[in-house]
Amino acid sequence: MPAPIQNQQELQFKGYAVEDTENWEKFKLIDFQPKPMGEHDVDIKIEFCGVCGSDVHTITGGWGKVNLPVIVGHEIVGRVARVGGAVTEFKVGDRVGVGAQVCSCGECGLCKSNNEQYCRELVFTYNDNFRGCGTATQGGYSTAIRTPDRFVFPIPDGIKLEDAAPLMCGGLTVYSPLVRNGAGPGKKVGVVGIGGLGHMAIQFAKALGCDEIVAFSHSNSKEKDAMTLGATKFVATREEGFQKPLLSSLDFIICTADVASGVAFKELLETLVPMGKFVMVALPDDKLPSLERSSLLSSAFFGGSLLGSKKEALEMLQLAADKGVKPWIEVMPMSDVSKAVRGLKDGKPRYRYVLKQDIDQ
Ligand SMILES: [Zn+2]
Ligand SMILES: [Zn+2]
Repeated sequence: MPAPIQNQQELQFKGYAVEDTENWEKFKLIDFQPKPMGEHDVDIKIEFCGVCGSDVHTITGGWGKVNLPVIVGHEIVGRVARVGGAVTEFKVGDRVGVGAQVCSCGECGLCKSNNEQYCRELVFTYNDNFRGCGTATQGGYSTAIRTPDRFVFPIPDGIKLEDAAPLMCGGLTVYSPLVRNGAGPGKKVGVVGIGGLGHMAIQFAKALGCDEIVAFSHSNSKEKDAMTLGATKFVATREEGFQKPLLSSLDFIICTADVASGVAFKELLETLVPMGKFVMVALPDDKLPSLERSSLLSSAFFGGSLLGSKKEALEMLQLAADKGVKPWIEVMPMSDVSKAVRGLKDGKPRYRYVLKQDIDQ
């Protein structure tokens, strides 16, 4: 007979919801219903939640239709409060996090090969529904989340909870394409955009031991930060001919730019070696530019990447703990959520806002 689980805690589920994408800066504290408790579910009492670009794309309607009311936030960290009967990986009190995905089918070839983020049955942390029960998913600008254990990540002791928050989505989103493209000794990588994602991409590229890390940004304003983060070279893409000294030299580029217009795609592609890859990790609201025919001549590949697997999340968190990868964060009370999303929309954070729990429970 399994031992009775001690100190299971019933949580209240409430959070800051947006009810209208036209009024995306207006949040209302609402109660919500989590999915029915399953054998593999974990209830987490949320302590911090990072503010990700996806949150703003969602509440503004930039990515399309939204299930309202919506509580966004998918850089969630806190402590386990309750576990289902079949959960063996976690116990009450454990420090854990949840990123942008809360479910997948668990059965398909992708789920069985550490590619669950590409499962056709993927369920996002908010603005989605659990298959089967149909319950709407709600994110981390809230008191608590109930999530299947496969999508809960244990946080190593060496990382503070608030520092771990941005790693759950942003960190994983850049780590996965880095390792899948062989980031490490002997490789030269480019990082386009020095923001929430880019500042973590530079740190992870360094932690993985890449020979060269070229930071690309519009202007010179972030040069000092990029070099402090670990870049070996800084290039301002606003300058005509910026690509010339770098032609056919980079193995791959991670593009974190959140707005497509203004990204010098053609010139950046020219900096890749033959068969080099240009990987988009942010999904801009606006249309991608059509590529010029001549861009094909460099034989570079253009594509995307989505989140990361749990296996990668665990590796990433351990690497962050071992090598001191630490997002640059500004912590603000969760009740200041409106200010946080406005600030992010305006490109203000250097480089990630993290909301600290202050909802009365
Ligand atoms: Zn699957
Ligand atoms: Zn995100």
